[in-house]
Amino acid sequence: MKIGEVAQRLDVPIHVLRHWDDMGVVVADRSASGHRIYTEEHLYRLRILQACQGIGMSLAEIRNVLRRGAPGRATAITHQLHRVRQQRIALERTEQFLTHVIDCRHDLLTRCPACSAYAEDAAST
Ligand SMILES: [Zn+2]
Repeated sequence: MKIGEVAQRLDVPIHVLRHWDDMGVVVADRSASGHRIYTEEHLYRLRILQACQGIGMSLAEIRNVLRRGAPGRATAITHQLHRVRQQRIALERTEQFLTHVIDCRHDLLTRCPACSAYAEDAAST
């Protein structure tokens, strides 16, 4: 399919798709006249790109994930896995804090053991 259809289906501006192509993250095929052509495989790659971007991965990191032969790929993915696990821990702590703080009766955070613990955790990470 053409780049305009992909842009519509994924709700991504055409210039962004071109940028991802130019950066080598999701590289489209080319028609005889030089226009970008996308297959279902490209769409899957683009959806993975969007999901990975959504959790804060850089284009370079995503390119590494999507390129099976890339040198240093396993190391980069292992590093990324570590970061995602750290993020999950931080999200769980934040969830616990928000669940608590909605009904917290202490006038000062420093007087509340639960609020204090969250602040100390945040400072250590
Ligand atoms: Zn509290």
